[in-house]
Amino acid sequence: MPLDRYINTFNRYLQERFGGRVARISFDTGIPCPWGRCVFCDNAVFVPRGAIVPGRRGWRDRLVFQKKRMVGRYGAHKYLAYFQSGTSTSGDPRKLGRMYGAAARTEDTVGLIVSTRPDYVTEEIVRQVVQSAPSNDFDLWIEIGLQSAHERSLAFLERGHDVASYDTAIDMIHRVGEGRVKVAVHLIAGIPGETSADVLETVRFATRHPVVQGVKIHHLQVYRGTRLADRFESAPFALPEEDEHIVLLGEVIKELPPQVVVMRFFTEAPSARLIAPRWDSNTQELLKKLEEYCKNNTITQGCGRNGCVN
Ligand code: SF4
Repeated sequence: MPLDRYINTFNRYLQERFGGRVARISFDTGIPCPWGRCVFCDNAVFVPRGAIVPGRRGWRDRLVFQKKRMVGRYGAHKYLAYFQSGTSTSGDPRKLGRMYGAAARTEDTVGLIVSTRPDYVTEEIVRQVVQSAPSNDFDLWIEIGLQSAHERSLAFLERGHDVASYDTAIDMIHRVGEGRVKVAVHLIAGIPGETSADVLETVRFATRHPVVQGVKIHHLQVYRGTRLADRFESAPFALPEEDEHIVLLGEVIKELPPQVVVMRFFTEAPSARLIAPRWDSNTQELLKKLEEYCKNNTITQGCGRNGCVN
């Protein structure tokens, strides 16, 4: 994709590492999020429909079906097992380890991604992630939702963890992960009260440790039925417009270390569930706009560290 010229996208990383298209297949531990209180969270948006729970009746048939879909849709013949929904490290670590291993050890699967909160990373979980890999070059990631490096924003979002718990989690992954487990951090831009400078501070903080090799960033969205929606409807607050978000992404890209893989820039919710902000462009159009913005402003990833002149 043309954006790969300017940014170390996940697509570029996968192409370089595996030599072709790699699709993510959604798995689920079947265990509800133990926190469940983040004000923006709507599981109907975050939990992909059709996520597979390893060990449940018929899971292997569903996996075969999903893989066929990925061949048809993306031409992908390799897969990443992605435990995306909720807090995928909550529960009995040995039981979770069996699920990770079952998902990882299926045909043509080249990696495992486990998504969680910083306060649910334990040494035992990191060991289970390492042990689930069928080979030493298997791609292992733990995704951690930090969202912001500002305590007041974590309080606003009612995340239920502090900034320090992120450092504890990534140090543990670095120490116990035998150099085989990489961290991808989730961040949210446009949290009320935060400036662009605050977001850039978060980006620098979140990516300063070498174990952090991926970042996912998107803007705050208000979904129907969430507590954020109640707050928004009783006292509306400003949310980013699409052009503002693209300008902010340009600044983020300049700051990001060149080796960090950018796994997401935008998020799209079903129209019926989204209250605000309602943007005109879809994800493909936004990616195109971001590419043009980078091109027109001579932005390449990390260039802010030594001057953005091509
Ligand atoms: S930790 Fe994740 S799944 Fe749990 S409530 Fe917060 S955003 Fe939702």
